[in-house]
Amino acid sequence: KFQGNSFYIRKQDILGRHKSFHRFSHKGDFGRVLLIGGAPGKLGAVSLSSYAALRTGSGLVFCAPEFEEPLEIQFPYEEIMVYQTRANADLSVMDAIGIGPGWGNAIDPDYFLSIMVRFDKPMVIDADALNLLAQNPKLIKYVPENSILTPHLKEFERLVGKMEDHSERIESASLFAVENKVILVLKGAHTLIALPDGRRLFNSSGNQYMATAGSGDVLTGMITSFLGQGYTPENAAICGVYQHGLAGEMASVAKRRGMIASDIIEKIPDTFIDLGI
Ligand code: AMP
Ligand code: MG
Repeated sequence: KFQGNSFYIRKQDILGRHKSFHRFSHKGDFGRVLLIGGAPGKLGAVSLSSYAALRTGSGLVFCAPEFEEPLEIQFPYEEIMVYQTRANADLSVMDAIGIGPGWGNAIDPDYFLSIMVRFDKPMVIDADALNLLAQNPKLIKYVPENSILTPHLKEFERLVGKMEDHSERIESASLFAVENKVILVLKGAHTLIALPDGRRLFNSSGNQYMATAGSGDVLTGMITSFLGQGYTPENAAICGVYQHGLAGEMASVAKRRGMIASDIIEKIPDTFIDLGI
């Protein structure tokens, strides 16, 4: 059914998917986003996502780490607004939400459900939020339509079961996207973006040096940022995946196997220069 529906994403394919801003744009136009995750000991993951969102152009970035008690969190970036208890996070004012990096494995599924139901717009779902979906399959029908799910292979196998080979992975990812009306980003070399209409897009950017802790958290922040800037979920996923890979290629020129996730973040602005936007 899906034969002849596969495409390769190159630089020329993403230019027309970008929005431009003008001299009189204000920070509201660049969107207000919230990153949820970061259990005690795993704060770095959601911190990387938040900083990546800033470097991708979000006007305002909020972060809600997973702490019950108010606490003075040391965050490396002053530009990020950190909710000191998760109860204070106001979802209704957010243009986009990214959820899951470092969220931990002690999250109440009803809490995740309440976030999805209250927000009720496409969101980016990654890491421990995907694991929560895998453990509570009944939650999947509450995932807002056109949400972007970004599993690596292990996370995807937790959702759908073990797969034999690459062609089975492609079929499963595409089927998952169509059946659940979501965008399924299966990460790896040549990340697959499976769209709810059955199209399959394969990314051309990136390299092996991106296989490093926090690399995926950076991607979550980038896609959430584009979504908050008013991109369609399809364009947010495609521009995010392509530019994440491009930033990784750029950072690896000087860092090679010594590249770390924050090096990828520092190269995000250069990807806009490279694209001339
Ligand atoms: P995560 O496992 O969640 O940290 O995500 C890893 C990120 O690095 C994903 O965006 C992958 O696409 C990317 N990545 C990992 N290995 C490679 C590779 N060999 N080539 C290109 N990208 C990669
Ligand atoms: Mg990850």
